[in-house]
Amino acid sequence: NTELTKEWLQDYVDSWINFYKKQTVDGEVATYIPILAEADQHALGISIIGKNGVTIKSGDTEEKFTIQSISKVLTFIAACMDRGLSYVLNRVDVEPTGEAFNSIMHLEMKQPKKPFNPLVNSGAITVSSLLSGKTSDQKLESLFILMEKMIGYRPEVNVDAYESERDTSMRNRSIGYYLLEGGYLESDLGITLETYFKQCSIEITIDDLAKIGLVLSNDGLDPNTEEEIIPRSVARLVKALMLTCGMYDASGKFAAYVGIPAKSGVSGGIVAVVPPRVRDEELPFLDGCGIGVFGPALDLQGNSIGGIKLLRHIANQWDLSLF
Ligand code: GLN
Repeated sequence: NTELTKEWLQDYVDSWINFYKKQTVDGEVATYIPILAEADQHALGISIIGKNGVTIKSGDTEEKFTIQSISKVLTFIAACMDRGLSYVLNRVDVEPTGEAFNSIMHLEMKQPKKPFNPLVNSGAITVSSLLSGKTSDQKLESLFILMEKMIGYRPEVNVDAYESERDTSMRNRSIGYYLLEGGYLESDLGITLETYFKQCSIEITIDDLAKIGLVLSNDGLDPNTEEEIIPRSVARLVKALMLTCGMYDASGKFAAYVGIPAKSGVSGGIVAVVPPRVRDEELPFLDGCGIGVFGPALDLQGNSIGGIKLLRHIANQWDLSLF
């Protein structure tokens, strides 16, 4: 009985949200961008949307927050759709770095100095330069069109977050100069960084993240109409990148203990993708789902502490790991 199952799942998720909410005291909200320091350290919310329409939401579900690094997944998709997959992969690799998201080290040490992957800052800034258009707003247009198809409305840039990020961006500017030196940027450095800071400052909710996860779970097709939003080859590659590089230098542990593609951002959001699997009819989510989490208290790698604990618990209990 679907209703009973849904009720049971809801109670289950509610109780674990309450449990892990108390554990957010271990972490700290990001402070290197002043506006992120204002977040409520104890907030924790989750939204799970299944392909069959089953939705479970719990905790702090209505908060709006900036998408931050999760935008890297979406600009990569948009750039691949704008320029073609092989064109983009000529400029950015698909290898994990094992270093912090904003590290410069690999740009210095690798020959050629090609950015390791599009989900760390060096790769993401390169990808932003590949988006078509001259101004940052023109460049962001293909991202907005893509997001609207995935989440059902056109999101907006939080201007205060954008300015806060722009004015405290020394490290990203340094990365930009390395990329410029290596010949990887295809647009003016100033415009490229403006695009990157704006994309990080787009406001979303956990429902939006769950919807994004669901489209990826459905191999890039709209879960309702089955129309193609993202080419299947790009959706596949993105999920592999999320699994290997999506949680920064904690991606290995996340793959080992949670086992599903995911991407985090420093405002505390995580998008996770549960691919469809026929195994247990009692659990509708095994039919494929997207999960959005928000919990601004971060661990040392910059991932949501409560979010990771919650995802790990749920993935174990519902046997969601790909492996
Ligand atoms: N705005 C952030 C930065 O580049 C995005 C990084 C993140 O979410 N990890 O510094």
